[in-house]
Amino acid sequence: MSEPDVLVVAYGRDGAGAAPWVEALADRVPGLHVQSLNGPVDIARVRYAVTWRHPPGSLTGFPNLKAIFSLGAGVDHLVSDSNLPADVPIVRIVDPDLRDRMSEWVVLHTLIHHRQVRLYDWHQSEKMWVEDPFQPAAGEVRVGVMGLGVLGADATRKLKMIGFDVAGWSRTAKTLDGIETFSGQEGLDRFLARTQILVVLLPLTPETRGILNHSLFSKLARDSYFGGPILLNAGRGGLQNEADILAALDDGILKAATLDVFETEPLPESSPLWHHPAVTITPHNSAISNYGSITGFIAGEIAHLESGGAPRHTVDRQRAY
Ligand code: NDP
Repeated sequence: MSEPDVLVVAYGRDGAGAAPWVEALADRVPGLHVQSLNGPVDIARVRYAVTWRHPPGSLTGFPNLKAIFSLGAGVDHLVSDSNLPADVPIVRIVDPDLRDRMSEWVVLHTLIHHRQVRLYDWHQSEKMWVEDPFQPAAGEVRVGVMGLGVLGADATRKLKMIGFDVAGWSRTAKTLDGIETFSGQEGLDRFLARTQILVVLLPLTPETRGILNHSLFSKLARDSYFGGPILLNAGRGGLQNEADILAALDDGILKAATLDVFETEPLPESSPLWHHPAVTITPHNSAISNYGSITGFIAGEIAHLESGGAPRHTVDRQRAY
């Protein structure tokens, strides 16, 4: 009997962290031998690779590789490898569990700002019974979502369901039921001018790197009852200029920022973001990967490919997402 084809897990620069994925995938793809890339590999048998921040260049030289899966919705860790085999499709994760977790984070933190939860926390700590300030309805708050993909479109709908006045911005024109949409550079300034709470769910690409800077913040709407624009970023840390965020908070261009992602992760102890009174930090866990759900998606896509289907949810390498 011939040896089974191989699925390799390339997790991290040194393979540490591969083991739980190897175990979870082995149960899901019975026809394949699942193993870490760190170990002896019979290169001719490797048919699939599953990766998260693999060492650049380590996915070359597999003559029978049929698809590369990113273990996350973001693929910046993958497409930055200039030695990826050119003719092998890259498949991104599309996972309802991950999507729903992200929307929870977005709705939660939008509501925290809208309902001024930090102010009431402070009042409580001072035993102050202060009914003011008056609390307007969600419909009076204009939220803008940058990125209307799998995650952004869902978050937008859920914010709308709660009652926020939501709009979205994407690279190409989109239609979302009941939601005002803007696209491209020509739509960006109009989108920003109406946005009081900015939610960022963009991928990190050469076009979006550093987009969250002082110039962009200064174009946001300043007429909110909470006293200035608020930034929520759960896309990628490379989208934001942290020195600009701090400067904008200090000179009143931004009122507050809630950040799940950072230029350097883990966020260094020396970062002033840690103790800035207007900054809320979550440790890149807005939408943590669920092994069962993600490996189920990968197994389904492998079964689809093995039955002759064309690759789906593929990454466009030119766009880098
Ligand atoms: P998608 O690829 O489905 O959507 C990306 C969206 O961004 C699209 O609407 C796209 O526009 C838009 N976009 C891309 N480039 C530009 C640009 N230059 N200008 C304007 N719009 C642009 O991605 P997902 O929604 O699945 O995920 C978004 C990002 O969220 C991921 O790339 C990842 O970085 C991040 N993420 C963070 C997690 C966390 O734990 N913090 C977890 C998971 C993901 P168009 O529709 O026109 O193509």
